[in-house]
Amino acid sequence: KIPFWEGQSYGVIPPGTKINSKGKEVPHGTRLYSIASSRYGDDFDGQTASLCVRRAVYVDPETGKEDPAKKGLCSNFLCDATPGTEISMTGPTGKVLLLPADANAPLICVATGTGIAPFRSFWRRCFIENVPSYKFTGLFWLFMGVANSDAKLYDEELQAIAKAYPGQFRLDYALSREQNNRKGGKMYIQDKVEEYADEIFDLLDNGAHMYFCGLKGMMPGIQDMLERVAKEKGLNYEEWVEGLKHKNQWHVEVY
Ligand code: FAD
Repeated sequence: KIPFWEGQSYGVIPPGTKINSKGKEVPHGTRLYSIASSRYGDDFDGQTASLCVRRAVYVDPETGKEDPAKKGLCSNFLCDATPGTEISMTGPTGKVLLLPADANAPLICVATGTGIAPFRSFWRRCFIENVPSYKFTGLFWLFMGVANSDAKLYDEELQAIAKAYPGQFRLDYALSREQNNRKGGKMYIQDKVEEYADEIFDLLDNGAHMYFCGLKGMMPGIQDMLERVAKEKGLNYEEWVEGLKHKNQWHVEVY
């Protein structure tokens, strides 16, 4: 009963209370989770929404062992929830990752880890749903960064789309512990994107939208790479990004 758009998040308030800095007992704070289904839900009846939650664990830097007393509250609550568990939610919130109104605009989506969640809502809207009110005609290009092949998320769904829409859907993985970049180092997400930098700059010049989602730590490497490429092209990086932001083609949600 809380309708949403693709690219939005729900808030979840974990059960229980905590003592705040003033010594007062208060409810736990809200945690945000990107919605990973399109607006009709995975069953297409508008009754469900999907989340993609990673358990936050705490590894003691001294012993190298997990300390369950310090595990993340809300992510573990959600991952341990069973059918029927009541969950206090807020939202939906978020305007940064909404899809463009133009269903022909190319979408370049760059994700690490659970940053894949909002892009799943996109690809389901673009390729799996079939509604008369929205017909996606652009290019959908997904870059996904994970450590190993076994950490890929939703790969079966993605391979099926790649097979059904070969001209319209592109999928590139950066597997940091399995692949090497051009310099022989680990293949991080920015290295994979850099391989296609010319095409990406051209697409952005022609109205493509670029989205980034995942852990905060992904952005500095990506920004450094884009700045270097922009310089090689004789562009001023800051002005280039500002221009894209101004035209609402640049979307970043990292946490
Ligand atoms: P918390 O209880 O808040 O703990 C945070 C961290 O601190 C954990 O790693 C925990 O192990 C550690 N910790 C706890 N106690 C101690 C201690 N005493 N000493 C040291 N460390 C300690 N997450 C997803 O999984 N999927 C998503 O799609 C997603 N989307 C998001 C979208 C947005 C816009 C934002 C802002 C965040 C998103 N997140 C997402 C992150 C999510 O909101 C939570 O931050 C995350 O799940 C951790 O919350 P938690 O309650 O499990 O951990």
